[in-house]
Amino acid sequence: MDFKFQIGTKVLFGRNCVKANGAEFSKLGARAFIVTGRSSGKASGALGDTTELLKDAGIAYMVYDRVDNNPTLENVKDAGMEAAAFEADFIIGIGGGSPLDAAKAAAVLAVNTVEPVELFKNIFSKKPLPVIAIPTTAGTGSEVTPYSILTRRDLETKMSFGNEDTFPKVAFMDARYTMSLDREVTVNTAVDALSHAVEGYLSRRSTAISDVFAIEAVEVFGQCLPALINGDFDFEAREKLLYSAMLGGMTISHTGTTIVHGIGYSLTYFRGLPHGRANGLLMAEYLRFNYEYVREKINKVLGLLGMKTIDELKRQLSGILNKGETFDEKEFSRYAALAMKQKSTSYNIRNVTETDMQDIMRKSLL
Ligand code: NAP
Ligand code: FE
Repeated sequence: MDFKFQIGTKVLFGRNCVKANGAEFSKLGARAFIVTGRSSGKASGALGDTTELLKDAGIAYMVYDRVDNNPTLENVKDAGMEAAAFEADFIIGIGGGSPLDAAKAAAVLAVNTVEPVELFKNIFSKKPLPVIAIPTTAGTGSEVTPYSILTRRDLETKMSFGNEDTFPKVAFMDARYTMSLDREVTVNTAVDALSHAVEGYLSRRSTAISDVFAIEAVEVFGQCLPALINGDFDFEAREKLLYSAMLGGMTISHTGTTIVHGIGYSLTYFRGLPHGRANGLLMAEYLRFNYEYVREKINKVLGLLGMKTIDELKRQLSGILNKGETFDEKEFSRYAALAMKQKSTSYNIRNVTETDMQDIMRKSLL
């Protein structure tokens, strides 16, 4: 056995965990810069809980609520400059993966006067400001990963940066904050979490310990399938989805993702498909492509989901994801070429060619 294991994040999970652990905020300083989306902070109730606590603790704060979905370099530059001008001691990210990833970028840019494109070098002369992450979706696991995934208009794709210093210091995980999600975002983000667990489990970089997180994530996702199919989410189901997403994040913190994410980025960039939905539509054919190389592991995944075949999984996922768009071969060539440039493609257990990628898209999306 040969592995490295590190999660640089303290996780505080449970109902009212923000209020119950106010001291965690004061430890990080006297000035907090809050990074959130246009609606997610308020709709979830997380922004209200946090600002109330900050006021009580005498911590000055400023709210930046202009994070776009799939944030761009321009967007995080803006947030970073405002955080610097505010002279923030720490950053609080509140929202789905988009605001949490933007918070990590702002934490670096607030103290390093570099252009955002330099983020991808992963070397920062000054350590990023500490980040507190408060997820309001149950999907990306960004609260426990070092990754920040940003849209690069210059390269027409999404790209991630992150190193040991970009793990959030603390994650507050309260499923109450995900109760306001509509069914569509709930399903899409849950499927993103499944994708992290499965891609991590089947990755060349998987380890004994990352597999523990991945298997638990898939199993818990499976327990939530009836709720995802019926669209009926009680608090218990919301907690399980949040837990599963966190485990998926812990998995990819060690393994990274592979070709599902690599191809999915183009479906988001060029066609606007939500991140998790893009991954979910590709999942079954990705499993079929890899089947002979990791047969036992794929059978284990299907078993944990209570399914017998890849086709059964494909039917279930298409059912909850509403496959609708039409695609053409020209798009597949373009997306395959871009996905080949992603570092994560080399982590796929089976060597992949551009033609293989096109074939996966053809079988998944036509
Ligand atoms: P998101 O883009 O953060 O949010 C999707 C939508 O849900 C937004 O409209 C958002 O509103 C809304 N929303 C969020 N929480 C809500 C709540 N509690 N109630 C009502 N509405 C709410 O979606 P996401 O899937 O969580 O994140 C996707 C991003 O994360 C992508 O950029 C993806 O590449 C990245 N990602 C990161 C990692 C990682 O390890 N860091 C892993 C996978 C994916 P607002 O616009 O108001 O916020
Ligand atoms: Fe993802």
